[in-house]
Amino acid sequence: MTDTRTAWFNGNFEPLADVRLSPMDRGFLFADGIYEVTAVLDGKLVDSASHLARLERSAAALEIKLPLTVAEIEQIEHELIARNGLTRGTIYIELTRGVAERDFLAEPETPTLLMFTQAGDMLASPAVTNGVNVVTMPDIRWGRRDIKSVMLLAQVLAKRAAKAQGAQEAWLVQDGYVTEGASSTALIVTADGTLVTRPNSNSILPGCTRAAVLALAERDGVALEERLFTVEEALTAREAMLTSASNFVVSIVRIDGQTIGEGRPGPVAMRLRELYLEMARSSS
Ligand code: PLP
Repeated sequence: MTDTRTAWFNGNFEPLADVRLSPMDRGFLFADGIYEVTAVLDGKLVDSASHLARLERSAAALEIKLPLTVAEIEQIEHELIARNGLTRGTIYIELTRGVAERDFLAEPETPTLLMFTQAGDMLASPAVTNGVNVVTMPDIRWGRRDIKSVMLLAQVLAKRAAKAQGAQEAWLVQDGYVTEGASSTALIVTADGTLVTRPNSNSILPGCTRAAVLALAERDGVALEERLFTVEEALTAREAMLTSASNFVVSIVRIDGQTIGEGRPGPVAMRLRELYLEMARSSS
């Protein structure tokens, strides 16, 4: 099937299939780049300001200068939504240091900036209805997980291992404590109804959905604790869930084959998902 999507690449809208990335791009050679993923619902960007702020932060951490202002990037996102007729899905943005002779210290004049859309239905998926299974495994990633780097090999391997065990996500574990999912934030609800998630630090990506969901939970009167939790605590939790831009809030019904709560999406996760959807639909 031919890909009919329009992408934005280094200053121009062009067919995604025609984008020609140099083999000397540092994103390809060194994973010297960052990315961002923003959901699109009803043709509108979800929580856009938060994702653009993290894009700026990740770029700054790698000392890569964004070639456009975030306002200009947002304009291009709107244009990509329109040109691709996207109602539900995501926009992917990747920024690399650029193209140069292969040399660790090369400083290309201009960075590479690529943006494209992906259609996907985050409302009508079996994960939403049934919840998902996760399996735990060691977190073998580097020490700056707060940067949304394109260096995703550990996550690719974790997700492949999870899939081989019949799970849809991997929970990564360091020193006995859950850091996060391979591509999502990890949360649990304790027996007394407290929503627990790890505090932001260099050990995890500061999830945009995490931030929005915690604010919504607080406003809704849910008790919150930002602290570390172990796999053992998660196994006895009343509920477990994940948050991410591409999935919003999804219940976890099994961890390492052990049933969590009633083995179906729990009330706290369902309520938070509903509140998040309301918020998403009311944004412009
Ligand atoms: N943690 C990791 C490692 C991720 O890759 C992601 C998203 O891709 C998240 C957390 C969730 O972040 P967000 O809610 O901003 O999508």
